[in-house]
Amino acid sequence: MLPLKEKDKPVVQKLLSAGCCARCVLRFCCVSVQATYRKPHQETLKELKAFIGNTENGKSQDSVAADSTEENNKSHDATAPEPTDEPADDPPSKRAKLELSGTEAPSEEDAAEEKLTEEPSVCVACLGILQELCGTTQAVKIAEKVKAEKYELETLVLSVSLPAQLCVREHSCWLHVKKELKEKSMALDKDDVVQVKEAFKWVLQGLVAKEIGGVAVVARSLFEISVGFTHKETDADCHFLATTCADCFRPTKNKQSVFTRMAVVKALEKISDTKFLTHYACPPAKPASSCSSQDVQCLHQCVFVAGRYNKYSRSLPQTPWVIDGERRMESSVEELIAESVLSSFRSEGFNFSSSGREDVDVRTLGTGRPFAMELLNPHRSKLSRAEMKLLQETINNSSDKIKVRDLQIVSREAMGKMKEGEEDKTKSYTALVWTLKPIQSEDIAFIDDIKDLTLDQKTPLRVLHRRALAIRPRVVHSMKTRFMDSHHFYLEMKTQAGTYIKEFVHGDFGRTTPNLCELLKTDTDILELDVESVDVDWPPSIPE
Ligand code: ZN
Repeated sequence: MLPLKEKDKPVVQKLLSAGCCARCVLRFCCVSVQATYRKPHQETLKELKAFIGNTENGKSQDSVAADSTEENNKSHDATAPEPTDEPADDPPSKRAKLELSGTEAPSEEDAAEEKLTEEPSVCVACLGILQELCGTTQAVKIAEKVKAEKYELETLVLSVSLPAQLCVREHSCWLHVKKELKEKSMALDKDDVVQVKEAFKWVLQGLVAKEIGGVAVVARSLFEISVGFTHKETDADCHFLATTCADCFRPTKNKQSVFTRMAVVKALEKISDTKFLTHYACPPAKPASSCSSQDVQCLHQCVFVAGRYNKYSRSLPQTPWVIDGERRMESSVEELIAESVLSSFRSEGFNFSSSGREDVDVRTLGTGRPFAMELLNPHRSKLSRAEMKLLQETINNSSDKIKVRDLQIVSREAMGKMKEGEEDKTKSYTALVWTLKPIQSEDIAFIDDIKDLTLDQKTPLRVLHRRALAIRPRVVHSMKTRFMDSHHFYLEMKTQAGTYIKEFVHGDFGRTTPNLCELLKTDTDILELDVESVDVDWPPSIPE
């Protein structure tokens, strides 16, 4: 039994005669029982016919509409540039008047009308989307795509993109029904009509879930399948709106056509019923073909992986080092980490970020530097703790230049913690310092007593090509010296994040003051630098 009431009869009658499919009829009767849409549409059509068959006078009213399709076909696009076309005020409005006045049409036309609806014609409202395009064949096509791309998933969300002209047709059908109801002093709110998109999902979701197996189709999921439809034949349906509401159709750079769904909806909100009816057929003209479905697109939202890395090489940049299109070093920290991560998550790409960065010749020791990777369209998104550990081992075995720890999947929100308060954090370094004048351990001992030394650092010459010139104050919290020989010592420092250590040691031609040259009253230079710790307590450490 269809969940329809007596009052729906004229609507059903009118829409079937206009060439609407069974599911579209249900939509306009505001049927929100999803199961009703899942029945084969041909079966529903039979039920609908049986339903209206009970009425004695219901049929007659619409024979005019059914008859006038010929005219509609000619007139629905008044703005098309063909010179033979009659402008604006032809059949639709004439027919509208006819319908309003004459309700009693000759009964011999009923038979012809019956025949018309028997034929498996393409629906005037959904252009076939809720007919053959909304069944097992479509579900199988989607499932095959997901399987072919070897996505591992538990849930998915289905998104549908419909041709914009469907809104115009929907509007026309709605006016068609509205007119009928008005005569009976009833009303139909356009918002109560079930949308094509909704009905499509109600039917297809279950079928897709069944075809893929073990997957729930839900309203929100990180995995999205997009199905798109186009209908060349009726693309021009929207064009008249550009003359009635030019404001709605401003060209934008990225869009192929100004007739986007959004713009069409907006224009339809503005247009008066009368104006609409002078430009567009009501009900819409019957199409010769149904929509064509575009390629099914699968997209898994990004997954974020974080950890800490050590860098043991003095000839490894953090990110690929390319100068004038030429690669300088054969690898980089991010590539060494990414290779195994990408293959584990079967991701199509990544973005790498970290809490600060070290120069190519600087090692990062201690517990390492926090980093995070945004994995693009991963085909696999869940790894167990054991699998993550295995992945970490794979990375660590692949190179002796780097090592990662605390590798874990994190949320997008948690990523922010890495950059949070970065400037206020402290970092520890060890520098190997060379002095021009010979030194003894007593000569450098005083450095150990210096606390919270504020430096004024002008943007270093070596980064001036990519950073704005500025003077930034930075604090060296504490220092500790380890005498090596008469020209070398190790300097351990705890500093505010963002301090340029190399510049503090050699002075950068006086651009950093005070500097080590000034303190020791001799030229000094930095031979080696290690980052000992980056004091950002994220990501959380994972016990071994
Ligand atoms: Zn339909």
